[in-house]
Formats: sequence, C-alpha cells, structure tokens
Amino acid sequence: MEEATLVIIKPDGIKKSLTGNILSRLSEAKLKIMGSKMVKVSNDLAEKHYEHLRDKPFFSELIEYITGKVHDENRVMALVYYGEDAISKVRRIAGSTNPEEADPISIRGAYGRILTTGIFENVIHASSEAAEAEREIKLWFDPDEIVFDLYPCQIKDGRSEWK
Ligand code: GDP
Ligand code: MG
Repeated sequence: MEEATLVIIKPDGIKKSLTGNILSRLSEAKLKIMGSKMVKVSNDLAEKHYEHLRDKPFFSELIEYITGKVHDENRVMALVYYGEDAISKVRRIAGSTNPEEADPISIRGAYGRILTTGIFENVIHASSEAAEAEREIKLWFDPDEIVFDLYPCQIKDGRSEWK
C-alpha cells in the first residue's frame, strides 16, 4: 500500500553534517520526497510530537534533545516520504531506537550513540505506524507544504489547513 511517513533529521544529525549521508541512505528505499523543510523546534512542537512519551523518565531530556539544547543546534530537517510500504522501509533503514542495539548498517547503528547522560542520540526520527505518521505529518507540515493532496484539507481565512 502506498503511504506517507515523517522523517526528522535530529539536531545531532545536522550538527554532525550527516544530512547528505542520511538522504542517500533513505534514497535506497526508492520513495518520493513530497515535502521537506528546516525547522526550529519549539517546546510546544516538541511536546506535541512526543506526547505519547510524556510519562517516561527521559521525557524532559528528550525535549531538550529535539529542541537542540543538547547540541546547541536548533535546526532539524523534516521530510515527508511517500510510496509503497514507506513506513516499514524507512524504519528498517533507520534502525532500532537504541543506537547500540541497532543494526550497525542502519543509520542509527552507524551514526547514533548513547550519551553519558543517558540520552539516546539516534540521529533521525521515523514514524512507526500509519496513524502516527498522519498525526505527525499534520503536526509538522501545512497542507500547502506538501506537493500533493495527502489528506483532506480546507481553506480557512485564505489559508489551507488540515480538516
Ligand atoms: P522511535 O520511534 O524508535 O524513535 O522510539 P520511541 O517513539 O519509543 O521514542 C522516541 C525517542 O525517544 C527515541 O527516538 C529516543 O530519542 C528517545 N527514547 C526512546 N526510548 C528511550 C529510552 O529508553 N531512553 C532514552 N534516553 N531515550 C529514549
Ligand atoms: Mg516512535
């Protein structure tokens, strides 16, 4: 089934100048990039993105990480990939959540690490299932930032917004 997935190159990936390598690795999946942008992640966006982890002991460190405070790098790159089995293909290339357990050939296995503070510095985010992908893409992108009609949207006050 053709589907969309959200990828975020996290602050450590940007700081280590891995953007090109990561995009090359992801191109192996033969998916289409339908949206891309650099984002300065606010606390509000970070907390909404990781709201399902709010009760975890590492939540506040995770927010500091994704907002760039850990790496003094407040840019991330957000991308929407689209195509056959996009979610599982991207997850396979990304590797497991824990970079030390990830396949060494995966992005997280090759470039991730665990900091002494315990943070999983794992270079990229990738949606893990369809409902999550839809929620995340709608959170990170406006309809007119994606080059095709992915989900239903409406025009309000001259601007397009997700329905
Ligand atoms: P993902 O879908 O593979 O990114 O994993 P999750 O959705 O479970 O967690 C989101 C992010 O939280 C991960 O990518 C890590 O950056 C971080 N994280 C998850 N589990 C842990 C953990 O046990 N310890 C720490 N320090 N960070 C974690
Ligand atoms: Mg996840």
